[in-house]
Amino acid sequence: MNDKELERYGRHILLPEVDYEGQQKLLNAHVVIVGVGGLGSPAALYLASSGIKKLTICDFDKVDLSNLQRQIIYNEENLNEKKVIAAKNNLLKINSNIDIQTIDQKLNEFELEELLNNGVDVLLDCSDNFHTRYIINKVSFKTSTPLVSGSAIRMQGQLCVFDFRFKEKIGCYECIFPNNNVDEELRCADHGILAPVVGIIGTMQALEAIKLILNINNMQSKFLLFDGNQNEWKVIKYHKDKECKICSASSI
Ligand SMILES: [Zn+2]
Repeated sequence: MNDKELERYGRHILLPEVDYEGQQKLLNAHVVIVGVGGLGSPAALYLASSGIKKLTICDFDKVDLSNLQRQIIYNEENLNEKKVIAAKNNLLKINSNIDIQTIDQKLNEFELEELLNNGVDVLLDCSDNFHTRYIINKVSFKTSTPLVSGSAIRMQGQLCVFDFRFKEKIGCYECIFPNNNVDEELRCADHGILAPVVGIIGTMQALEAIKLILNINNMQSKFLLFDGNQNEWKVIKYHKDKECKICSASSI
């Protein structure tokens, strides 16, 4: 680490949980963020400022006026720009030393697998639909890529961490939310979302991504539900579903 890095990341290095060694791990890490919206915005901002060496951001949308209420990585000058381009430019203004790769398309299962086979430390699922979440869960499990999954609607949010480096021991997203052809898609566009709630969950995703890189693992077999109205967190325990078609012994 050079002098500028020691200065920039000094408040991290002071922490015994991080120290020089942990900051060096962050400076060598590759994180993929799928979806740069309400969740992906704070997640990307914190990961970039923390010095993650390489961020790959995926989104196929353009910046819309209705996004600015909560997607804090964008500003009025970015309206109608491609999200990944605007996000990249804004992240580089915070930290010009990191490498940001952009993917301006919806990745299918095979493309995502190819990406994850390329040395990815953590995948952040910041998408807004079940279809994408099930694909991400399946491919993360298959490629043993640690996954941090977040979602938020109205005044509620949830956060799940799956360290698939230890996949024999832990369950997966489908163990908690079985894929029974979910028809009813809850989307912010239809149901609304209070802006700071996505900020809280997206920020937690960045926190858990950093912890996975530092090998701090205390989210095994539990997930978090956040109620922004009551300002309460619930910790829910779950078990690996022996019948799960993604992660059960018979499907490995
Ligand atoms: Zn499972």
